[in-house]
Amino acid sequence: MSTSNYQQLEHELVAVVGRQNVLSSPVDLAVYECDGETLDTARPDLVVLPGNTEEVSEVIKLANRYKVPVSPRGAGTGLSGGATTIMGGISLVLTRMKKILDIDPDNLTATVEVGVTNLAVSKATAKWGLYFAPDPSSQIASTIGGNIAENSGGPHTLKYGMTSQHVLGIKVVLPDGQVTTFGGKARENFGIDLLGVFVGSEGTLGVAVEATLKLTPLPKQIETMIAYFPSVEKGGQAVSDIVAHGVIPAAMEMIDKLTLNAVEDALKLGLQKDAGALLIVELDGQKAGIAVQKEIVVNCINKNGAMNISWAENPKERASIWKARKSAFGALGRIAPHAYVLDGVIPRSKLAETISAIAAISEKYKVMIANVYHAGDGNLHPAILFHRDNQEETLRVMKAARDILELCLKLGGTLSGEHGIGIEKLDEMSLAFSAVDLKCMSYVHDAFNPDGILNPGKVVPNLKSCGESGIRPLLRHQLSAAGTLN
Ligand SMILES: Cc1cc2nc3c(=O)[nH]c(=O)nc-3n(C[C@H](O)[C@H](O)[C@H](O)COP(=O)(O)OP(=O)(O)OC[C@H]3O[C@@H](n4cnc5c(N)ncnc54)[C@H](O)[C@@H]3O)c2cc1C
Repeated sequence: MSTSNYQQLEHELVAVVGRQNVLSSPVDLAVYECDGETLDTARPDLVVLPGNTEEVSEVIKLANRYKVPVSPRGAGTGLSGGATTIMGGISLVLTRMKKILDIDPDNLTATVEVGVTNLAVSKATAKWGLYFAPDPSSQIASTIGGNIAENSGGPHTLKYGMTSQHVLGIKVVLPDGQVTTFGGKARENFGIDLLGVFVGSEGTLGVAVEATLKLTPLPKQIETMIAYFPSVEKGGQAVSDIVAHGVIPAAMEMIDKLTLNAVEDALKLGLQKDAGALLIVELDGQKAGIAVQKEIVVNCINKNGAMNISWAENPKERASIWKARKSAFGALGRIAPHAYVLDGVIPRSKLAETISAIAAISEKYKVMIANVYHAGDGNLHPAILFHRDNQEETLRVMKAARDILELCLKLGGTLSGEHGIGIEKLDEMSLAFSAVDLKCMSYVHDAFNPDGILNPGKVVPNLKSCGESGIRPLLRHQLSAAGTLN
């Protein structure tokens, strides 16, 4: 679209949301050029921050009139480029919409605007002994809208499930600007499950504006343990053994030596730096049940050669253990300015084998890989550390990433446990799904979003996209066009 048309659009957007809520200067736009997947950058033409549902609807109607793509955005912590505006257009940022509209402790629900952070919901409901169970490690910043769009998980997904299991209803602005609701306070168990279709659709089917969330009672008792192992393989085997013995802890999280050392150097928590791996196991529920589970967990851990085990004796010690895990990605910034965080899933029983294979990939491409695992549910987050300005290194990073994803598929796993496909894993979708599956996905996409106005170029390969804007030249496209990726 021409500059004068964008100026006209900007003028009309200002009339809807106010001058201070439309950003267009290059410095402001640069802030929104990527999400947490920093390999791919593409600046929007305009950033718009609506304050309510009506404004979202009006912005989308204007975008349709001007044929300009719109990419919804929460806090921008996504790790697959989902909010990156690869066709330019409008970055629609929902973070001003952060009201908690209703807390209903009798029915265990909270209704919120989607720009509220995940943690703010649990803080607001704590006085009733309730919380929102999905707990992505980004929960201090990531929004409920982003959690819904990505179907986010977290350390406690092992026992409590993904976001989809904790959302009862959503109010949505569709790609033509109409407003509707899917689901509600009471479960709808009939008709086509539009709520189920929407959760995890990564901003391609509509913009969520409000959500009714299921709340969970806070557990009566929690026991949190930290164990050190000589190697990640030994820790991985302990995880498999615990589940094989019939214990499903609330969480089982592991970090490798590189990550452990980065965390300790950054935070000085007193972690044991000579260990090859740190495993966190959390048990929750009733006292009697926990006592039995504790015994099984300790046996499995000792059998696999743990160097040291300690249980948190109070909430402060528990918080310190979780700080070690939840600060892992941030701490890796001490080693390299960029981290490409993968999200493959493998069958839990193949954890030890996969860990060795990732080490071999790291060796093959001479890239540094730090490993953070939601070990209990086989969800791996190898973080490949690099400097984006070094194109030769970046190329090796991308090749290593592809090998890791292919490894996960070969071992009977999947491309993504919780970070979504975005633009990052588009090319691998055809390895994970048949042509028929992909066609079914594009039928669903086109039924909601026929002109591709909303978040074009995400999730499903070869989608129609809003015609007027040109694709931004992403580094991955340049490398693959040069034939260097194959
Ligand atoms: C340090 C760190 C740790 C992380 N740990 C975890 C983890 O443990 N588990 C996990 O699952 N993820 C994790 N993530 C990834 C990320 O935080 C989640 O995907 C999160 O849900 C994204 O929320 P957001 O508000 O930042 O969304 P954004 O990144 O802004 O957007 C993510 C996607 O959602 C879409 N979207 C956003 N809001 C809406 C809306 N209202 N309607 C429709 N679409 C929308 C966007 O278009 C985009 O496709 C982590 C990220 C970081 C940086």
